[in-house]
Amino acid sequence: LPQVVIIGRPNVGKSTIFNRLVGKRIALVDDQPGVTRDRRYGDVSLLGLDFQVVDTAGWEDEEPDTLPGRMRAQTEMSLKGADVALFVIDSRAGLTPLDEEIARWLRGQNVPVLLLANKAEGRSGDDGIMEAYALGFGDPIPFSAEHGLGTVDLFEALRPHIEGEELDEDEFEEPAEGGEGEEEEEHDSSAPLSLAIVGRPNAGKSTLINRLLGEDRLLTGPEAGITRDSISVDWQWTDPATGEPREIKLVDTAGMRKKAKVQDKLERLSVADARHAIDYAEVVVLLLDATRGLEVQDLKIANLVLEEGRALIVAVNKWDIAEGPSALFNGIRTALDEGLAQLKGVPLVAVSAITGKGLDQMLSAAFEVREAWSRRVSTAALNRWFEQAVDANPPPAPGGKRIKLRYITQSSTRPPRFVIFGTRLTELPTSYERYLLNGIRRELGFGAVPVRLTLKSPK
Ligand code: GDP
Repeated sequence: LPQVVIIGRPNVGKSTIFNRLVGKRIALVDDQPGVTRDRRYGDVSLLGLDFQVVDTAGWEDEEPDTLPGRMRAQTEMSLKGADVALFVIDSRAGLTPLDEEIARWLRGQNVPVLLLANKAEGRSGDDGIMEAYALGFGDPIPFSAEHGLGTVDLFEALRPHIEGEELDEDEFEEPAEGGEGEEEEEHDSSAPLSLAIVGRPNAGKSTLINRLLGEDRLLTGPEAGITRDSISVDWQWTDPATGEPREIKLVDTAGMRKKAKVQDKLERLSVADARHAIDYAEVVVLLLDATRGLEVQDLKIANLVLEEGRALIVAVNKWDIAEGPSALFNGIRTALDEGLAQLKGVPLVAVSAITGKGLDQMLSAAFEVREAWSRRVSTAALNRWFEQAVDANPPPAPGGKRIKLRYITQSSTRPPRFVIFGTRLTELPTSYERYLLNGIRRELGFGAVPVRLTLKSPK
């Protein structure tokens, strides 16, 4: 088995890390420095990555600020034949002179070094992690052995060394569009909502926008909004549920440009118009025309919105002149649920740009759907659900060999992305992927927001 050696000054959490990796409480853990005496070995299968981990006694037995040759020799020996050194620091305590001394020494050893910033739960370790960059071992891996955080990051960092190959270019990389990954800021639900209103010509986009802006206080001058050059207009909508004003940024849509310009474009596909607005929006309202129902063109726009990873709402406009409204509504509901798989359950509201009916409901739905689109589920909660979902309906065993689903993590939000680790995942049927996606949507409350799922098989 490939070998990973844990190195670090006393009390940074080496034994806890060892235990966390090996998965058994076999090491003696104590707050007192110097409790770990012997070199210990344990077999690890980290998300399917198999290796042996070695916990060194190297630095423990001596004065923290000296590096006697005997201990150095000990650790040096354990490094022989090691594939990776896992250099552990305490991100809450920050860097100490001994950390720096170990770092210097490690640089002289002929082994790749990964820097593990332990005790990084919460925010208390942020400074320590920043400091750790200065050690020159690349990005520190934030980790919490105690809380079980950072497993996937560690896995990803170890993998190329253990498998003796560089990662494929695109593997484990966050998809470019919208994926902020781990560095993303927590989403602030009071931030202005970027909203686009799209739809076929004549669906009533301009009328709707005028109605919305006319009712509410413009934050920027009115000219800024409705002129041909404008990109967006900020305004406040008073949420009737709370009485609180909420800020909305209406982003560029054909409906916001000068009427003449819109007319020029009537011949063009409204899909092309929608594309532009979608780029800047968090939530997109697809406006249908109640006198025409749901048409193929509408489904194309809806599909585009979801492909771009934006949250979608469907609003049926001109409800004031709709014929047979309840049958119409149910018909559209059914068509959406049974049309594109990803449209199932998408919020649907009936509105009238002329009378103002349904507009509050539409905007409430927009804020709600942004919430789901921005939500992060803890890895613990995610895996509780995952284990139960896999137990309830185990994956098939093509050719008698079982597909193993080990672990799930949410890699980003806006839109939510999930990564599942396991073995033989290339053989997982798409129906099973759909089963998991439906579970994420229904049981973890993501509803109809576009959710991405990636399968990762080590090896
Ligand atoms: P756009 O091309 O999507 O911007 O559509 P417009 O806003 O120009 O509206 C097209 C036509 O539909 C206009 O004649 C509007 O007066 C009409 N219209 C828009 N919304 C409504 C509505 O809620 N009810 C009714 N009855 N007519 C509407």
